[in-house]
Amino acid sequence: MKYKRVLLKLSGEALMGEKQFGIDSHRLQTYASEIKTVHDAGLELAIVIGGGNIFRGVDSNDLGIDRVQGDYMGMLATVMNAMALQSTLEQHGLYTRLMAGLNMEQVCEPFIRRRAMRHMEKKRIVIFGAGIGNPYFTTDSTASLRAIEIEADVVLKGTRVDGVYSADPEKEPDATKYSTISFQEVLDKGLNVMDKTAFTLCQENELPIIVFDMNKEGNLNKLINGEELGTLIS
Ligand code: UDP
Repeated sequence: MKYKRVLLKLSGEALMGEKQFGIDSHRLQTYASEIKTVHDAGLELAIVIGGGNIFRGVDSNDLGIDRVQGDYMGMLATVMNAMALQSTLEQHGLYTRLMAGLNMEQVCEPFIRRRAMRHMEKKRIVIFGAGIGNPYFTTDSTASLRAIEIEADVVLKGTRVDGVYSADPEKEPDATKYSTISFQEVLDKGLNVMDKTAFTLCQENELPIIVFDMNKEGNLNKLINGEELGTLIS
């Protein structure tokens, strides 16, 4: 296996599957079984899950809701997704712990770095909910920050696109995919991988990111076994 400990970032939108809103049960089940495969192979795993399928802070202004309030609503949305994922992983026989950036002691533990690392050593999957607990951040920034804190080898950003392209492949059919690219090139070319805060945190701390298609069965397992797919940013 190529990695010992990884941070897997899943977007909330991906959880919708074919639906327009909320959580698709089929998608949850397939994610859980993909995660089980790599965990059973011995990988230490932490997961950050987004909330875009339920609420995004940037949409709050349109609704006449204060931005900061909206961001907290977005964080709560990530907790719902995290709880759903936790439950599904447990149905697959995995041991998990949900740690959150906001205090919600009835449903999750507070984030304590040493405890998170201990959980992973004990082969529990740690899910980080509620982002980092601060408005104006995203779950991508959460993924970068927590990955650095828990000394993950890599951030695996699971998306519905199979890597980083020279332009948006859903709009421009001639766009070409990079198999590897440097942090600086991504910035120079203005490519969209993560928001800038999240991205520069990885760059400054030399934490590689792999962008890959999480919806293609078996991809996660191939990646952790060193197969080159998606785009490696380092
Ligand atoms: N959010 C936040 N601080 C954080 C993490 C998330 O304020 O540390 C809010 C923010 O409003 C964001 C929402 O939670 O829009 C949902 O997360 P995100 O948009 O990153 O989810 P994704 O796009 O991955 O589904």
